[in-house]
Amino acid sequence: MSTIKLDVVTPEESVFSDEVDMLVAPGLEGQLGILPHHTPLMTILGIGELIIRKGKDEQFLAIGGGFLEVLPDRVIVLADAAERAEDIDVSRAEAAKERAQKSMAERPEGMDAAAAEAALKRSLIRLKVATRRRRHRQEM
Ligand code: ATP
Repeated sequence: MSTIKLDVVTPEESVFSDEVDMLVAPGLEGQLGILPHHTPLMTILGIGELIIRKGKDEQFLAIGGGFLEVLPDRVIVLADAAERAEDIDVSRAEAAKERAQKSMAERPEGMDAAAAEAALKRSLIRLKVATRRRRHRQEM
C-alpha cells in the first residue's frame, strides 16, 4: 500500500512529520479524507480534529484552523495551532472554555462575539481530542 508524506506545522513548530496511510482533516464543510494520490488541493481548515492513520496506528490532533495543501507527493497542514492529544493541557482548555462561556453569557461592552465563539470551539475540540487515546487498530 502506498503512503503519503504529511507535515503538520504551526507558526512556532513542526508538530508532525511522517509518511502516513491517510488523514482526515477538519474541512469547513465537514471532515475531509485524504488518501495517497489525492488530486492536488488547497483548502481552508476549521477548528476541529485531525486524524492520522499509519498501519494499525491512529493518532489525533486538535487543530485551531488553518490551511491544507495536497501536493502530488505530500500534504501540508499549516495550522494556526495544533496539539497532539497527549500534549493537550486539559485544565488550560477547561479554563479557556469557562472564560469563553462567561464572556458569551455576560456579553461585556466591546466584546468580540466571534472571537469568543472561536475560543469556545477551540477549547471544546481540545477537550474532545484529549480524551482520544492513540490506539492500535485491529488488523482489517
Ligand atoms: P488559551 O486561552 O488557553 O491561551 P487559546 O485557544 O487562546 O487558549 P491559541 O491561541 O489557540 O490558544 O493557542 C496559543 C498557543 O497555545 C498554541 O501554541 C497552542 O498550541 C497552545 N495551546 C492552547 N491551548 C492549549 C492547551 N489546552 N493545551 C496545550 N496547548 C495549548
